Amino acid sequence: MTPPLPGQTSLVQGTFPELNPPYRLLLGPGPCNVDPRVLRAASAPQLGHLDPFLLDMLGTIADQLRQVFQTQNELTLCVSGSGFAGAEAVLCNLLEEGDTLIAGSLGFFSGKIAEIAQRIGAHVILVESEPGQPLDPQQVAAAFARHPEAKLFATAIAETSTGLLQPLEELEQITHAHEALFVVDAVSGLGGIPINIEQMKIDACYAGSQKCLGALPGLAPVTLNAHAVEVIKRRRRPVQSYYLDLLALQRYWNGDHAYHHTACSNLLFAMHEALRIVLEEGLETRWQRHRLHGQALRAGLQTLGLTLLPRPGYELPVLTAVNLPPSVSENQLRQQLLTAYGIEVGGGLGSLKGHLLRIGLMGYNACRKNVETVLAALEQLLPSYGWPVQAGAALSAAATVYSQEDQASGHA
Ligand SMILES: *Cc1c(COP(=O)(O)O)cnc(C)c1O
Repeated sequence: MTPPLPGQTSLVQGTFPELNPPYRLLLGPGPCNVDPRVLRAASAPQLGHLDPFLLDMLGTIADQLRQVFQTQNELTLCVSGSGFAGAEAVLCNLLEEGDTLIAGSLGFFSGKIAEIAQRIGAHVILVESEPGQPLDPQQVAAAFARHPEAKLFATAIAETSTGLLQPLEELEQITHAHEALFVVDAVSGLGGIPINIEQMKIDACYAGSQKCLGALPGLAPVTLNAHAVEVIKRRRRPVQSYYLDLLALQRYWNGDHAYHHTACSNLLFAMHEALRIVLEEGLETRWQRHRLHGQALRAGLQTLGLTLLPRPGYELPVLTAVNLPPSVSENQLRQQLLTAYGIEVGGGLGSLKGHLLRIGLMGYNACRKNVETVLAALEQLLPSYGWPVQAGAALSAAATVYSQEDQASGHA
């Protein structure tokens, strides 16, 4: 028998060592470490996708999601797939070939709305902002004036490529003044920043499981109001995607449970437990927790002499995008964080590649220990790039934020 070539695995004598994945502190833009309760829930024995216990659980998860989204929307469910599956589902159900939409692109993630819509065959009117800047509502209004036929406007509330929090109120008013649907990507926002579907008058929204909701990747919560459902029901042609057909998924989730595809019971167990944790903590408390730790992290980074990408006042609490000085190699710094500290953080995407760190504090990971861990690691690493830092200064700046918070809430 010829021995395998170097780098080639023998298919004959297949004994393979057990996998022991390293422990990582996942402080990138998601996935993030989940509460051990979620991992325990996920390890329960599987169920069939038509098991009465599982079908019952779908109803519970839909109710939990309605509370987290703050909506009564009947069509509230999880698409099998990650956040972009939610994006595809919402867009390919609402849009038909030849329809016009206005896509508000703030960067990589909300930019994908335009790409997905283009693949559907829709006519995309793109309104873009500079990296780290919010959308200009006047440009959106001008796009509607030129394209009164636009069926929907879509953007993200939390743009994870630039750490930007996009205010929605004016955009919603412009969209509804033109009788179009208001569609929002809340993939990284849901569970971490205030999102209230009914108050914000969002017609259709998609989210992600592995970011601030604190579940495992592979499920995308979506919610559509009656108006959006009506738009789907009035389609001239069937939805091009069988797998992402929302009315069929609604039947499986919230209707007569007719088989549509094999939903993964263990991901659903994890989602159920993650949502229980979100609701136990309470939405307001959870948003406040993300706000506090984001603020402490930013204070520490700025004390290191680093600047933030987003326009002041528009910083996303759950993901901080920090500019790197030219002398600091993004790639090497991220490697060092990973190998020396076991910390994963994100880098720049597209034109920002090589110049940015993206540090996420999402869900279970939004805590003081993680803020101080990543700041301490950066304090240690940055001087080797010729970027002097004052030892302990970043941690002190973060500590000041925490003690001010304690005083404000009377815990001092
Ligand atoms: C992460 C993210 C996505 C994509 O989600 P996946 O789970 O990677 O498919 C989309 N939009 C935003 C704003 C995100 O942060």
